[in-house]
Amino acid sequence: MPHPRKKVIAANWKMNLTSSEVKPYLETLLLETQQVEGIDIVLIPSFTSIPKASELLEKTPKVRLGAQNFSAHDKGAFTGEVSARMLRDLFVRYILVGHSERRQLFGETDQIVHEKLLVAHRNEFRPILCVGETLEERKAGKAKQVLENQLKVALADLSVEDLADTIIAYEPVWAIGTGCTATTEQASEMHHFIREMIKDLSSKGPLSKLAAGDERQGIDGAQQLSVQEVLNGASTGVTQPIASAVEFGKRSKEVAAKIRLIYGGSVTPANACELLKSPDIDGALVGGASLDPRAFAEIVKAAATA
Ligand code: PEP
Repeated sequence: MPHPRKKVIAANWKMNLTSSEVKPYLETLLLETQQVEGIDIVLIPSFTSIPKASELLEKTPKVRLGAQNFSAHDKGAFTGEVSARMLRDLFVRYILVGHSERRQLFGETDQIVHEKLLVAHRNEFRPILCVGETLEERKAGKAKQVLENQLKVALADLSVEDLADTIIAYEPVWAIGTGCTATTEQASEMHHFIREMIKDLSSKGPLSKLAAGDERQGIDGAQQLSVQEVLNGASTGVTQPIASAVEFGKRSKEVAAKIRLIYGGSVTPANACELLKSPDIDGALVGGASLDPRAFAEIVKAAATA
């Protein structure tokens, strides 16, 4: 059976590779993946390499460009920061939000992650929202609780449509850069949990009315409420006609079926195929192994054949 969603394979270079290394990297990646189709390949270099990558990828829709970070502010006196609009100007389309290194090393709280997610959507990026538990949290049996808390804060106030357009990366902190990847069973279990949670978030009603010609049209033509409104059980304020439970159910199934959940944490060419075969895993966020274009291409190819 074909995989239900288009897979995403993203290369997070972190603070590695310089601008002059972009061209040889892309030449190899494009050569190695020339037979590959149907995968969203995303390159996420450091800020200084974005202009070069942008120039080289302008006519190559096969590889999309992402950024590792951006400011929660739109503009102004924020020395050293880079705004979402500046990145859009360079044809950046994907953006990481809430990577564990930003959370742990740079003090990004759930609230900041939430604000950035809203900014990302307002600027029409496709955000890759990273969530995941530490080893201590997993050992204490709190992994799902941690994910639930991170997701509830991050996704509040999102329209249901933006929710469906957010890519969620499950990245257990204990697996990032450690060589200790989650097993397919562990990753699939957590992805399944997240998808069920998304279903729940987008199904709590009363959510929508069927509103022909309404400006705030949602996925199936229904008026949108934010996820926060949904969580609070708010109504549309419109007295009739309110959508039935059947319609809520249909919509929540649509959102949960559409949203892409990818795995990150020591993905390599050796383990990618096994992980990406899981129907619950829609792709990978790759750090260390993405620095070698051949290794990254192997992971892309594994996604295409898994
Ligand atoms: C990451 O930085 O998101 C990541 C998953 O890194 P690594 O593949 O090196 O574990």
